[in-house]
Amino acid sequence: MSGAIDTTTTLNNGVEMPLLGLGVFKVPNGQKTISVCQEAFAAGYRHIDTAMIYGNERDVGTAIKASGLAREDIFVTTKLWNTDHGYQEALSAGRESLNRMGLDHIDLYLVHWPLEGRRLETWKAMEQMLDEGLTRSIGVSNYMPRHLDELLAVCQHRPAVNQIELHPFNYGYRLALIDLCRQHDIQVEAYSPLTRGKKFDDPRLAQLAAAYSKTPAQILIRWALDHEFAVIPKSLRAERIRENAAVFDFSMEASDKAWLDDFNEDLIVCWDPTDVP
Ligand code: NDP
Repeated sequence: MSGAIDTTTTLNNGVEMPLLGLGVFKVPNGQKTISVCQEAFAAGYRHIDTAMIYGNERDVGTAIKASGLAREDIFVTTKLWNTDHGYQEALSAGRESLNRMGLDHIDLYLVHWPLEGRRLETWKAMEQMLDEGLTRSIGVSNYMPRHLDELLAVCQHRPAVNQIELHPFNYGYRLALIDLCRQHDIQVEAYSPLTRGKKFDDPRLAQLAAAYSKTPAQILIRWALDHEFAVIPKSLRAERIRENAAVFDFSMEASDKAWLDDFNEDLIVCWDPTDVP
Protein backbone atom coordinates (compact mmCIF):
# COMPACT_ATOMS: atom_id res chain seq x y z
CA MET A 1 0.00 0.00 0.00
CA SER A 2 1.20 3.47 -0.73
CA GLY A 3 -1.10 6.32 0.24
CA ALA A 4 -4.74 6.55 -0.75
CA ILE A 5 -6.68 8.27 -3.50
CA ASP A 6 -7.52 11.15 -1.19
CA THR A 7 -3.88 11.70 -0.16
CA THR A 8 -3.22 15.42 -0.08
CA THR A 9 -0.20 17.68 -0.03
CA THR A 10 -0.17 20.82 2.10
CA LEU A 11 0.53 23.85 -0.07
CA ASN A 12 2.73 26.69 1.19
CA ASN A 13 -0.36 28.63 2.32
CA GLY A 14 -1.79 25.69 4.29
CA VAL A 15 -4.37 24.59 1.70
CA GLU A 16 -4.70 20.82 1.22
CA MET A 17 -4.52 19.67 -2.40
CA PRO A 18 -5.27 16.07 -3.44
CA LEU A 19 -2.18 14.73 -5.21
CA LEU A 20 -4.16 12.87 -7.88
CA GLY A 21 -6.51 14.77 -10.14
CA LEU A 22 -8.28 14.31 -13.45
CA GLY A 23 -7.10 16.55 -16.30
CA VAL A 24 -9.81 17.56 -18.76
CA PHE A 25 -7.81 19.10 -21.62
CA LYS A 26 -9.38 17.98 -24.91
CA VAL A 27 -12.40 16.51 -23.18
CA PRO A 28 -15.27 17.80 -25.34
CA ASN A 29 -17.45 20.36 -23.62
CA GLY A 30 -21.04 19.58 -22.67
CA GLN A 31 -22.23 16.18 -21.49
CA LYS A 32 -18.87 14.45 -22.11
CA THR A 33 -17.03 16.64 -19.61
CA ILE A 34 -19.87 16.25 -17.11
CA SER A 35 -19.80 12.46 -17.44
CA VAL A 36 -15.99 12.11 -17.17
CA CYS A 37 -16.04 14.23 -14.00
CA GLN A 38 -18.85 12.03 -12.66
CA GLU A 39 -16.82 8.90 -13.45
CA ALA A 40 -13.84 10.43 -11.68
CA PHE A 41 -15.84 11.33 -8.57
CA ALA A 42 -17.29 7.80 -8.50
CA ALA A 43 -13.75 6.39 -8.71
CA GLY A 44 -12.74 8.56 -5.74
CA TYR A 45 -11.00 11.49 -7.45
CA ARG A 46 -11.58 14.77 -5.64
CA HIS A 47 -9.51 17.04 -7.88
CA ILE A 48 -10.27 18.30 -11.39
CA ASP A 49 -7.86 20.31 -13.56
CA THR A 50 -9.46 22.55 -16.18
CA ALA A 51 -8.59 25.87 -17.84
CA MET A 52 -10.41 28.72 -19.52
CA ILE A 53 -8.89 27.68 -22.86
CA TYR A 54 -10.20 24.09 -22.55
CA GLY A 55 -13.74 25.43 -23.03
CA ASN A 56 -15.24 23.14 -20.40
CA GLU A 57 -15.17 25.14 -17.15
CA ARG A 58 -18.96 25.42 -17.21
CA ASP A 59 -19.36 21.65 -17.43
CA VAL A 60 -16.84 21.04 -14.65
CA GLY A 61 -18.90 23.39 -12.47
CA THR A 62 -22.10 21.57 -13.40
CA ALA A 63 -20.53 18.21 -12.53
CA ILE A 64 -19.32 19.52 -9.17
CA LYS A 65 -22.78 20.80 -8.29
CA ALA A 66 -24.46 17.58 -9.46
CA SER A 67 -22.00 15.34 -7.62
CA GLY A 68 -23.72 15.56 -4.27
CA LEU A 69 -20.28 16.01 -2.73
CA ALA A 70 -19.61 18.90 -0.38
CA ARG A 71 -17.90 21.78 -2.18
CA GLU A 72 -15.05 21.68 0.35
CA ASP A 73 -14.38 18.05 -0.53
CA ILE A 74 -13.57 18.90 -4.16
CA PHE A 75 -10.47 20.71 -5.36
CA VAL A 76 -10.83 22.51 -8.67
CA THR A 77 -8.06 24.20 -10.63
CA THR A 78 -8.53 26.54 -13.55
CA LYS A 79 -6.08 28.70 -15.45
CA LEU A 80 -5.73 32.20 -16.83
CA TRP A 81 -5.14 32.20 -20.58
CA ASN A 82 -2.54 34.22 -22.51
CA THR A 83 -5.07 36.71 -23.87
CA ASP A 84 -6.05 37.67 -20.30
CA HIS A 85 -2.68 38.91 -19.02
CA GLY A 86 -2.57 42.37 -17.42
CA TYR A 87 -3.99 43.56 -14.10
CA GLN A 88 -7.57 44.45 -15.03
CA GLU A 89 -7.75 41.74 -17.68
CA ALA A 90 -6.71 39.08 -15.18
CA LEU A 91 -9.21 40.26 -12.55
CA SER A 92 -11.96 40.06 -15.17
CA ALA A 93 -10.80 36.66 -16.40
CA GLY A 94 -10.85 35.21 -12.88
CA ARG A 95 -14.38 36.46 -12.27
CA GLU A 96 -15.52 35.14 -15.65
CA SER A 97 -14.08 31.70 -14.88
CA LEU A 98 -15.93 31.69 -11.55
CA ASN A 99 -19.16 32.74 -13.25
CA ARG A 100 -18.82 30.04 -15.88
CA MET A 101 -18.24 27.40 -13.22
CA GLY A 102 -21.04 28.80 -11.07
CA LEU A 103 -18.80 28.63 -8.02
CA ASP A 104 -17.96 31.25 -5.42
CA HIS A 105 -14.31 30.26 -5.25
CA ILE A 106 -11.63 28.40 -7.18
CA ASP A 107 -9.25 26.18 -5.19
CA LEU A 108 -6.20 26.86 -7.35
CA TYR A 109 -5.95 29.55 -10.00
CA LEU A 110 -2.90 29.24 -12.26
CA VAL A 111 -1.25 31.56 -14.75
CA HIS A 112 -1.26 29.16 -17.71
CA TRP A 113 1.92 30.37 -19.42
CA PRO A 114 4.70 32.89 -18.58
CA LEU A 115 3.75 35.30 -21.34
CA GLU A 116 6.50 37.84 -21.85
CA GLY A 117 5.71 41.43 -20.89
CA ARG A 118 2.71 41.54 -18.58
CA ARG A 119 3.08 38.54 -16.32
CA LEU A 120 4.14 40.52 -13.21
CA GLU A 121 1.08 42.78 -13.54
CA THR A 122 -1.02 39.66 -13.91
CA TRP A 123 0.43 38.27 -10.69
CA LYS A 124 -0.74 41.36 -8.76
CA ALA A 125 -4.27 40.52 -9.86
CA MET A 126 -3.79 36.88 -8.83
CA GLU A 127 -2.73 38.09 -5.37
CA GLN A 128 -5.74 40.35 -5.14
CA MET A 129 -8.08 37.48 -6.03
CA LEU A 130 -6.40 35.41 -3.32
CA ASP A 131 -6.82 38.23 -0.77
CA GLU A 132 -10.50 38.58 -1.73
CA GLY A 133 -11.12 34.85 -1.29
CA LEU A 134 -12.06 34.28 -4.93
CA THR A 135 -9.44 31.56 -5.00
CA ARG A 136 -7.94 29.60 -2.09
CA SER A 137 -4.51 29.42 -3.69
CA ILE A 138 -2.64 30.82 -6.67
CA GLY A 139 0.13 29.41 -8.77
CA VAL A 140 1.80 29.26 -12.13
CA SER A 141 2.22 26.82 -14.97
CA ASN A 142 5.08 26.36 -17.41
CA TYR A 143 7.30 28.68 -15.35
CA MET A 144 10.99 27.96 -15.79
CA PRO A 145 13.69 29.08 -13.29
CA ARG A 146 14.04 32.56 -14.83
CA HIS A 147 10.29 33.19 -14.62
CA LEU A 148 10.16 31.99 -11.01
CA ASP A 149 13.21 34.03 -9.98
CA GLU A 150 11.66 37.14 -11.49
CA LEU A 151 8.37 36.53 -9.65
CA LEU A 152 9.86 35.51 -6.31
CA ALA A 153 11.86 38.75 -6.20
CA VAL A 154 8.73 40.93 -6.14
CA CYS A 155 5.67 38.93 -5.11
CA GLN A 156 3.62 39.41 -1.94
CA HIS A 157 2.35 35.82 -2.11
CA ARG A 158 4.57 33.08 -3.49
CA PRO A 159 3.02 30.74 -6.04
CA ALA A 160 1.75 27.63 -4.28
CA VAL A 161 2.14 25.39 -7.34
CA ASN A 162 4.09 25.20 -10.59
CA GLN A 163 2.33 22.91 -13.09
CA ILE A 164 4.78 21.61 -15.70
CA GLU A 165 5.10 18.78 -18.17
CA LEU A 166 6.75 16.02 -16.18
CA HIS A 167 7.38 12.28 -16.55
CA PRO A 168 10.49 10.09 -16.38
CA PHE A 169 11.34 10.96 -19.99
CA ASN A 170 12.01 14.62 -19.11
CA TYR A 171 12.82 14.36 -15.39
CA GLY A 172 16.52 15.13 -15.89
CA TYR A 173 15.63 18.03 -18.17
CA ARG A 174 13.52 19.58 -15.39
CA LEU A 175 15.61 18.65 -12.35
CA ALA A 176 17.05 22.13 -11.70
CA LEU A 177 13.53 23.58 -11.90
CA ILE A 178 12.17 20.94 -9.53
CA ASP A 179 14.97 21.69 -7.05
CA LEU A 180 14.19 25.41 -7.23
CA CYS A 181 10.50 24.76 -6.59
CA ARG A 182 11.38 22.60 -3.58
CA GLN A 183 13.68 25.31 -2.17
CA HIS A 184 10.76 27.75 -2.22
CA ASP A 185 8.12 25.23 -1.10
CA ILE A 186 6.32 25.44 -4.43
CA GLN A 187 4.41 22.22 -5.14
CA VAL A 188 5.36 20.67 -8.48
CA GLU A 189 2.39 19.35 -10.45
CA ALA A 190 2.96 16.99 -13.39
CA TYR A 191 0.94 17.50 -16.57
CA SER A 192 1.04 15.12 -19.54
CA PRO A 193 2.25 12.57 -16.96
CA LEU A 194 1.46 9.69 -19.35
CA THR A 195 3.47 11.28 -22.17
CA ARG A 196 0.11 11.23 -23.98
CA GLY A 197 0.75 7.53 -24.46
CA LYS A 198 3.84 8.14 -26.60
CA LYS A 199 6.12 6.06 -24.38
CA PHE A 200 3.82 3.21 -23.39
CA ASP A 201 5.79 0.89 -25.69
CA ASP A 202 9.15 1.67 -24.13
CA PRO A 203 10.47 -1.84 -23.28
CA ARG A 204 11.86 -0.74 -19.90
CA LEU A 205 8.48 0.69 -18.92
CA ALA A 206 6.79 -2.50 -20.13
CA GLN A 207 9.25 -4.54 -18.05
CA LEU A 208 8.39 -2.55 -14.91
CA ALA A 209 4.66 -2.80 -15.63
CA ALA A 210 4.96 -6.59 -15.94
CA ALA A 211 7.04 -6.85 -12.76
CA TYR A 212 4.36 -5.07 -10.70
CA SER A 213 1.37 -6.50 -12.62
CA LYS A 214 0.40 -2.94 -13.48
CA THR A 215 0.01 -0.98 -16.71
CA PRO A 216 2.56 1.51 -18.08
CA ALA A 217 0.13 4.33 -17.20
CA GLN A 218 -0.05 3.14 -13.59
CA ILE A 219 3.76 2.94 -13.33
CA LEU A 220 4.07 6.53 -14.58
CA ILE A 221 1.45 7.80 -12.12
CA ARG A 222 3.02 5.88 -9.23
CA TRP A 223 6.42 7.36 -10.14
CA ALA A 224 4.99 10.90 -9.95
CA LEU A 225 3.30 10.20 -6.61
CA ASP A 226 6.49 8.65 -5.22
CA HIS A 227 8.20 11.97 -5.97
CA GLU A 228 5.31 13.78 -4.23
CA PHE A 229 4.38 15.53 -7.44
CA ALA A 230 0.70 16.28 -7.90
CA VAL A 231 -0.38 14.40 -11.03
CA ILE A 232 -3.32 14.95 -13.38
CA PRO A 233 -3.68 12.19 -16.01
CA LYS A 234 -6.44 12.77 -18.55
CA SER A 235 -8.79 10.17 -19.94
CA LEU A 236 -12.16 10.22 -21.63
CA ARG A 237 -12.85 6.60 -20.76
CA ALA A 238 -14.37 5.33 -17.54
CA GLU A 239 -12.20 2.22 -17.39
CA ARG A 240 -9.01 4.24 -17.81
CA ILE A 241 -10.13 6.85 -15.28
CA ARG A 242 -10.46 3.96 -12.80
CA GLU A 243 -7.21 2.33 -13.95
CA ASN A 244 -5.29 5.58 -13.44
CA ALA A 245 -6.58 5.77 -9.87
CA ALA A 246 -5.71 2.14 -9.06
CA VAL A 247 -2.19 3.05 -8.02
CA PHE A 248 -2.54 3.08 -4.25
CA ASP A 249 -2.31 -0.69 -3.74
CA PHE A 250 1.36 -1.03 -4.59
CA SER A 251 4.66 0.69 -4.02
CA MET A 252 7.75 0.68 -6.16
CA GLU A 253 11.22 -0.40 -5.08
CA ALA A 254 13.58 2.54 -4.63
CA SER A 255 15.85 1.01 -7.27
CA ASP A 256 13.00 0.95 -9.81
CA LYS A 257 12.11 4.55 -9.07
CA ALA A 258 15.78 5.46 -9.56
CA TRP A 259 15.81 3.54 -12.83
CA LEU A 260 12.80 5.52 -14.07
CA ASP A 261 14.57 8.74 -12.99
CA ASP A 262 17.25 7.85 -15.53
CA PHE A 263 14.87 7.53 -18.50
CA ASN A 264 15.40 11.20 -19.36
CA GLU A 265 15.60 12.07 -23.05
CA ASP A 266 14.43 15.72 -22.80
CA LEU A 267 11.05 14.62 -24.17
CA ILE A 268 8.38 17.31 -24.46
CA VAL A 269 4.99 16.15 -25.79
CA CYS A 270 3.09 19.39 -25.21
CA TRP A 271 4.75 22.84 -25.36
CA ASP A 272 8.20 23.82 -24.14
CA PRO A 273 8.60 27.13 -22.26
CA THR A 274 12.38 26.74 -21.91
CA ASP A 275 13.14 29.64 -24.25
CA VAL A 276 10.36 32.04 -23.20
CA PRO A 277 12.20 35.27 -22.27
P1 NDP B 1 -1.68 12.62 -20.53
O1 NDP B 1 -0.24 12.33 -20.42
O2 NDP B 1 -2.54 12.64 -19.32
O3 NDP B 1 -2.24 11.60 -21.60
C1 NDP B 1 -3.57 11.59 -22.02
C2 NDP B 1 -3.65 10.56 -23.15
O4 NDP B 1 -3.40 9.25 -22.65
C3 NDP B 1 -5.00 10.53 -23.81
O5 NDP B 1 -4.80 10.28 -25.18
C4 NDP B 1 -5.70 9.34 -23.15
O6 NDP B 1 -6.61 8.77 -24.06
C5 NDP B 1 -4.53 8.42 -22.89
N1 NDP B 1 -4.71 7.59 -21.67
C6 NDP B 1 -5.12 8.01 -20.46
N2 NDP B 1 -5.10 7.00 -19.57
C7 NDP B 1 -4.69 5.91 -20.25
C8 NDP B 1 -4.47 4.57 -19.87
N3 NDP B 1 -4.67 4.15 -18.63
N4 NDP B 1 -4.05 3.69 -20.83
C9 NDP B 1 -3.83 4.12 -22.10
N5 NDP B 1 -4.01 5.38 -22.51
C10 NDP B 1 -4.43 6.28 -21.59
O7 NDP B 1 -1.80 14.02 -21.35
P2 NDP B 1 -2.45 15.45 -21.21
O8 NDP B 1 -1.63 16.32 -22.08
O9 NDP B 1 -3.91 15.42 -21.42
O10 NDP B 1 -2.15 15.90 -19.71
C11 NDP B 1 -3.03 15.67 -18.62
C12 NDP B 1 -3.65 16.97 -18.12
O11 NDP B 1 -2.64 17.92 -17.79
C13 NDP B 1 -4.52 17.70 -19.15
O12 NDP B 1 -5.77 17.10 -19.35
C14 NDP B 1 -4.56 19.08 -18.54
O13 NDP B 1 -5.50 19.11 -17.49
C15 NDP B 1 -3.14 19.23 -18.02
N6 NDP B 1 -2.26 19.92 -18.98
C16 NDP B 1 -1.80 21.18 -18.65
C17 NDP B 1 -0.99 21.87 -19.52
C18 NDP B 1 -0.51 23.23 -19.15
O14 NDP B 1 0.06 23.92 -20.00
N7 NDP B 1 -0.71 23.66 -17.92
C19 NDP B 1 -0.59 21.32 -20.82
C20 NDP B 1 -1.08 19.97 -21.05
C21 NDP B 1 -1.86 19.32 -20.15
P3 NDP B 1 -8.20 8.67 -23.72
O15 NDP B 1 -8.65 10.02 -23.27
O16 NDP B 1 -8.78 8.23 -25.02
O17 NDP B 1 -8.31 7.63 -22.64
